[in-house]
Amino acid sequence: LWAEITAQIKTEVSADSYDRWFRDIEPVELDEKTLTLRVPNSIFQLWIENNYQAHLRSVVMLVLGSPRNIHYVYQDETKIAPPPKVLTPAQKPKAEPAEPRMPAGGTSGFNPRNNFDSFVVGTNNQFAHAACKAVSDAPARTYNPLFIYGGVGLGKTHLMHAIGHAILSKRKPGKVVYITSEAFTNEFIDAIQNNTLIKFRKRYRQADVLLIDDIQFLADKGRTQEEFFHTFNTLFDGHKQIVLSSDRPPSEIANLETRLVSRFEWGLTAELQAPDIETRVAILRKKAQSVEIQLDDEIIQFLAARIRTNVRRLEGALMRVASYVSLSHGRLPGMEKIEHLLKDILHEEARRAITIDQIQKRVAEHFDVRLADMTSKRRPANIAFPRQIAMFLARELTKTSLNEIGEAFGGRDHGTVLHAHRLVREKMTKDERTRQIVSFLESQLTR
Ligand code: ADP
Ligand code: MG
Repeated sequence: LWAEITAQIKTEVSADSYDRWFRDIEPVELDEKTLTLRVPNSIFQLWIENNYQAHLRSVVMLVLGSPRNIHYVYQDETKIAPPPKVLTPAQKPKAEPAEPRMPAGGTSGFNPRNNFDSFVVGTNNQFAHAACKAVSDAPARTYNPLFIYGGVGLGKTHLMHAIGHAILSKRKPGKVVYITSEAFTNEFIDAIQNNTLIKFRKRYRQADVLLIDDIQFLADKGRTQEEFFHTFNTLFDGHKQIVLSSDRPPSEIANLETRLVSRFEWGLTAELQAPDIETRVAILRKKAQSVEIQLDDEIIQFLAARIRTNVRRLEGALMRVASYVSLSHGRLPGMEKIEHLLKDILHEEARRAITIDQIQKRVAEHFDVRLADMTSKRRPANIAFPRQIAMFLARELTKTSLNEIGEAFGGRDHGTVLHAHRLVREKMTKDERTRQIVSFLESQLTR
């Protein structure tokens, strides 16, 4: 089974990442609830949890047929001894077994590292942070519901777990339930199939605090929305705290029933923005400290300057450097080495940061056409071709959906974008000059 799991993972991560992070994992135990994996050291656990946890879980679920919690144990410490130059004996990472789980009762999903103490507050997130604090100090008595939104890797899940921890550490915490809306959907479907709706409803409708993460996954899931609507009403009417997170504000979640949108807006809506440079530096320092690794300021500044849009990625970069340091017995990598180590991360960062706007400007400039022609309906070849190239690049270099790209190009539909993409790709294989132009523009944009 493990072979099947790794085979599946192999198809979806780069060969480089696979060799670096997955090859040395050994399965040690499997039971109905938990899959225990042995990894070389805590850095592996952190890395996998930060970057591949969801992916690993879903592969495990796929192969085993039902979900498992994933626990980690570390290899004998002597195999990868922490380098003495970097770590003083007192700071040695402990080869402790996987983190203890939260008490039963539906709260086992909390990551103990995601608490308020480990959350770095900056201007980008202070409002959301304060709102979360207020809610955990006095559940259901301040903002209800609390709706937190922001892009991937900006700390939504971290804050939700932090609320959970804070409330659970109270003398009378009540019943705290955390779940992603995806898991909520799956449980709901299971409950229907297994005739256990009563139990399912009890679990959610009798919560004192319900934390529901990534609510945007309810888009398009009418039946689950209906169920959640009733859950929401029961809790709200019973003066129970509800906290929701999403990657966008309620009104921008496609195909979310308006009655849910309006309820989500009843309480307080708080946005998490990308951290500024000071916050990024502070996060890196804190994180380096927590994995007990000392990096010079130059490295920290470099990482903070280059990785701007996603804290998870920032941490990923740090962990990769940390792992290098650990495997090379404490030697700090030089800047060139770091560039090399982080090549794919830096590339990914550049990709994410590119906007359709920038692409349109750059392409218009290159072909000496007006920017307005990128969005106009005019179709002479000297305009249509650059426009197609811009659509191609938008699809390749941004995470934007076909529909949104079409929108950005003067309200064209997604079929037009798809067509342009195919056309340019074909042309690139047949025509060397097109290939050169596209790769030149791409390299300029991702620089
Ligand atoms: P989201 O749920 O918004 O996608 P996460 O909460 O999973 O993002 O955050 C991604 C990673 O970044 C986590 O490891 C989290 O601990 C870390 N992180 C995000 N924001 C902060 C912050 N302000 N301080 C410390 N760590 C943070
Ligand atoms: Mg999250």
